[in-house]
Amino acid sequence: MTAFKDFEVWFVTGAQLLYGGDAVVKVDAHSNEMVKGLNESGKLPVKVVYKGTVNSAKEVTAAFKAANNDDKCIGVITWMHTFSPAKMWIHGLQELRKPLLHFHTQFNKEIPWAEIDMDFMNLNQSAHGDREFGHMVSRMRKNRKVIVGHWQDEKAQLKIASWMRVAAGWADSQDMLIIRFGDQMNNVAVTDGDKVEAELKFGYHVDYCPIAELVAEQDKVTDEDIKALVDEYHASYDCGADILDGRSKAYNQVWEAARVEIALRRFLKAKGAKAFTTNFDDLKGIDQLPGLACQRLMAEGYGFGAEGDWKTAALYRTMWFMGQGLPKGCSFLEDYTLHFDGENSSILQAHMLEVCPLIADKKPTLEVHPLGIGGKNDPARLVFTSKEGTGVAATIVDMGNRFRMIVNVVDCIQSKELPKLPVASALWIPQPNLEIGAAAWILAGGTHHTSFSYDLTVEDLQDYADIAGIEMVIIDNDTTIQSFKRELQYNDLYYMLNRALQS
Ligand code: MN
Repeated sequence: MTAFKDFEVWFVTGAQLLYGGDAVVKVDAHSNEMVKGLNESGKLPVKVVYKGTVNSAKEVTAAFKAANNDDKCIGVITWMHTFSPAKMWIHGLQELRKPLLHFHTQFNKEIPWAEIDMDFMNLNQSAHGDREFGHMVSRMRKNRKVIVGHWQDEKAQLKIASWMRVAAGWADSQDMLIIRFGDQMNNVAVTDGDKVEAELKFGYHVDYCPIAELVAEQDKVTDEDIKALVDEYHASYDCGADILDGRSKAYNQVWEAARVEIALRRFLKAKGAKAFTTNFDDLKGIDQLPGLACQRLMAEGYGFGAEGDWKTAALYRTMWFMGQGLPKGCSFLEDYTLHFDGENSSILQAHMLEVCPLIADKKPTLEVHPLGIGGKNDPARLVFTSKEGTGVAATIVDMGNRFRMIVNVVDCIQSKELPKLPVASALWIPQPNLEIGAAAWILAGGTHHTSFSYDLTVEDLQDYADIAGIEMVIIDNDTTIQSFKRELQYNDLYYMLNRALQS
């Protein structure tokens, strides 16, 4: 696992000097052993770095300021070995701008019934020390993750691992640049939003770029570059005879698709962009809708949103980043067509072309077919159906006074052949079923575009929303319309009051 190798999570142990220097020496030794154990568990994607004990307000503040200023540090784990009076954490917590994980654990797994005495009790006080610390974080209304479990327990380690992925995604988005070729699709509301507020909340930055700049990059692509990429396509995907025949129209369209892909990748690299959007109405000078390019760039980790949808482009990049190394993949998707079939009613997920091949159930085929929309030449695309299994479909919408993340747990089922619809697709049943799941999604104001992942969980996305400090609503097997509507009403009130209190 090398994706997160440049990142660190800091481990800071709370203690106090009440029990003398010997106690602090033991606290330090235990902490060292725990951090070593966590790192050697092989379960954590990010290295934990022990930063020592903190015994005073000055030490807490210094530790957290250092965390803020270290680019490698993507988050801080705190743990109170002894009682750690929480007033000493106030100034440090006021400073801390990195994600916080409060690990409620203990050095010893079990109570040493025969040996336990008052010295042991004074040294091993996590049970009440962590409550004192937790009170202060709650009093300060600071979002944080709380994980409870023994540090050697795999379940607790896996929870830490998931949170680390989220913290890494957060770090990645703090310098994310999203390039938009063209604007939103005209008149579309749900994919639009406040880009200034988005930069304040999520850290990423959205820039516009005329398509002419991409065309200029395209003009520099040589035939040798294109030939090499076309050969790579032929080796990577199932290709029909027409795709392989150098004299065919299909071959030529794949050739042109490769030209766009090379230009787009070079352009994004040169800009330092991690995500981009396209608009099918703004392709002057480009041969075809860049379907294949978008599919392959998504698989490399570039965030993508169609029709100017920069929020979904950003969310896809973040979800891809968090899920690196996990087995089943993620994609940009769109609710396309409903299939009513009682309790098995489902939604066909697709797009014009731009679905990420990471979610394919087997090797995609490379095909060229006409596309009515956009008025361009026939585009190349990868065609496949998606894996079966449970995943999360997520979106972020701008509600006018706040961002809301909506997450629906969905069950991908086997699709049928689509002989006349040669695009990549998935077929899913939203939990708890189409009737309730889609109604709740619509009531929450959710998009038709989503960022979908098989590998991430509701908890991961909740942690992300907490770090960003945005609203999140979940639609899953426990959802009822009555309680969901009430939740939306309460949330409206909460965010209205919250804003009033801040101003
Ligand atoms: Mn769309």
